[in-house]
Order: sequence, then structure tokens, then C-alpha cells
Amino acid sequence: MLYLTMRFILKNILFLIFIFSGIASAQKSPGTSKNHFIIDGFLGEKTVYETPYYILRTDDEYPKILIDACIHGDEVAGKYACDTVMKYIDVLEGTVVFVPMVNIQAFEKNVRGVNVDLNQVFPGDPNADLYEERLAKDFMDLIALINPDVVINLHEAWTKYDDNLYKKHKDKSFGQTIITNSEERPVFLVNSQYEINKRISDKDKIFRIQSFPYKENHSMDNIIDKLKIPSYTIETLRTLPLEERINYQVICILSFIREAGINFKYYGNIR
Ligand SMILES: [Zn+2]
Repeated sequence: MLYLTMRFILKNILFLIFIFSGIASAQKSPGTSKNHFIIDGFLGEKTVYETPYYILRTDDEYPKILIDACIHGDEVAGKYACDTVMKYIDVLEGTVVFVPMVNIQAFEKNVRGVNVDLNQVFPGDPNADLYEERLAKDFMDLIALINPDVVINLHEAWTKYDDNLYKKHKDKSFGQTIITNSEERPVFLVNSQYEINKRISDKDKIFRIQSFPYKENHSMDNIIDKLKIPSYTIETLRTLPLEERINYQVICILSFIREAGINFKYYGNIR
């Protein structure tokens, strides 16, 4: 009995050490302390593609959203938007997870991909020679482990959305769009679009919903199909100034977090 009690206590102590060892110091926004705590870790720890992730957690684990950026390394606005939101958000209820530089090698080299396009090798292969294929598998495993309600992928595109172009090229990504792989328009998607666009004063820059054809090697389609987790992709227009693109990505991130039902305060500026 004593042995079992000791074992129970030891197990709980180890559990607490495990929980608290993962907590980094909370980032403070000006004049406020945060309600959430941060668990940080590495996707692909001790590999050539090791990249950080950040879990902003409260006592209520759900609702939970995961936001990733730089699956394409040179589409950088999403990464900086993640940094900005992490700095100024205070999560009150639920969990927000950021993976700001999925393909960190490509981000550091400022290229779309290093050996191959990471977004063409999902669901990945743990035994592949190319690191991108191993990374894709690790990223899928991380998402499965975290098990969010929704995954948002931040990207950028060179051409602006236009109805005529879209009719001709359904499988091309366009700037200022929210991409879904379905013709359906769930409430979450429609409400997020409304939340985003009401904050954009320049009506030429509002976000359209684009139904992108299914591609079996795309990250979003694999997250939806294999993990059964809803997922959407944001594309900002890369010909716009970086500051403007970051601002749109921040607006998108905050709108999705809100629509996911996560309670938060935001202390940053939205232009
Ligand atoms: Zn992209």
C-alpha cells in the first residue's frame, strides 16, 4: 500500500516536472501580464529541419487552433504575423498553437523549397532521403498529437484573385483568398471571412473564398483527409508591401481564433 502510494506521488511529481519544464517565460505585452502560459518545443527536434513551435495554453485546453506558416519558405508575411500575434495576444480560454517556420531551411534561404516543394510531398515518409518528406511526416504527426479543432495554413501568392482568372485556373493560388478544398461553405469559414473583411477598409483587398481542387500531396488536403481536421489556407498578395501583408495575416489569424471560439484579448494595433 505504502509502495503504491509512493509510486502514485512520484508519478505525479514527474508529471508536474514534465508540465512545468515545458513552460517558457510568458511574453509580456506593454503593461499587461498574460493569462496563458507557453509550452514551446521543436518539430523535428535534433534534425536538420528542427523548427520551433509554441503552444499558448490556458486551463481550458479546448477550443484549440493550430496556425502554421512558411511551408513555402519565401512566403514570409505569415511568419511575421505569427510573431506579432504571439507578442500581443492574451489567451483567456482555449489553446492557440503556432508553427511559424515549418520549412525553416527554406525560410532562412528565402526560397520556396530547398530540394523539393514541401507542399507536394505530404503525407511524407519517415525513411525518405529528402528532408522535406521526413518533415512532412513529422508535421502530420505533430498535428495529430496536438489534435486542434482547425488548422490554418498561411501562404502568399503573386497574382491577385480575379473571377475570370479563377474560372480558367482553378488549381492556381491567388492573392487575397481563403482557400478551401470543398465547394461547401461551413459557418466557420463564412463567419471568418466576414470577420476578416469587415476590418479591411480597402474593398479592393478583401478576401474571397476559393475552392481549390483536391491534390493528394498537399498539406491541407492531407490534414483534412487523413487527420479528419478542418483546414483552410490564407493567401496574401505578395506584390503588396510586406507591412500591409503582415497586417492582413494578423487580421486573418485573429478572426480565425475568434471564430474557433477561443476567448482572448489583443493589445496590438490593426491598421
Ligand atoms: Zn505557398
